[in-house]
Amino acid sequence: MPADDDHESHSSEASSDDGHFVQEILARNDAWATRMSTANPALFARNAKGQSPHVLWIGCSDSRVGEFCIDLLPGSVFVHRNIANLMPYGDLSSLSVVQFAVETLRVRHIVVCGHYDCGGAAAALGTKSLGVLDHWLKHLRDVRAEHKDELAAIKDPKSRLNRLVELNVVAQVHHVRRMGPVVEALKQGRISVYGMVYDVSSGHIKPLEVPQDTNELDYLLYSDDEDFKH
Ligand SMILES: [Zn+2]
Repeated sequence: MPADDDHESHSSEASSDDGHFVQEILARNDAWATRMSTANPALFARNAKGQSPHVLWIGCSDSRVGEFCIDLLPGSVFVHRNIANLMPYGDLSSLSVVQFAVETLRVRHIVVCGHYDCGGAAAALGTKSLGVLDHWLKHLRDVRAEHKDELAAIKDPKSRLNRLVELNVVAQVHHVRRMGPVVEALKQGRISVYGMVYDVSSGHIKPLEVPQDTNELDYLLYSDDEDFKH
């Protein structure tokens, strides 16, 4: 039967492709592990004992970007990535990552890194419905709405997109700084939160100036009555 032939042909192609893919990534992994242990002989023995990263990296899932751009060794960076590097208050994954990184791992730096040409930001500037993704990107539409006048004044679409990327980083830095574990760590002076943006056309990151969160006091919570002063 032609239909079965087609099916068999597709299955066989798929399994051949899968086999090739697995072989390829195993070979690449083997070469990488050898290269890493040659350059850093103590690395894997140290990582086998546990992790003590000093950075929490919050970035976009985009394949062109990632914590690899700061060129630190495995074990140095705790990572959280999602579409458009959003840190919504009600997102259990984001909150859990921040709590574990700040309270248990006691990272000293949190980097929120957006990137130019972000597809999530482009979608949030458009009107096309993308299904379930629409719900996630509403957090980015909140940023767009908050800065609608500034964004509307930018006529070049690419510049408008990249400005939204920057404004989103600032908004997410503020969100992170308002999260309970971070508020505590900031009070103790043991953590810093940075906003950065990655340029996919050059591979370089640059720090963004993050203005003071004028609403910071409205989000302050204290765990005991003694500290309840506001
Ligand atoms: Zn992105």
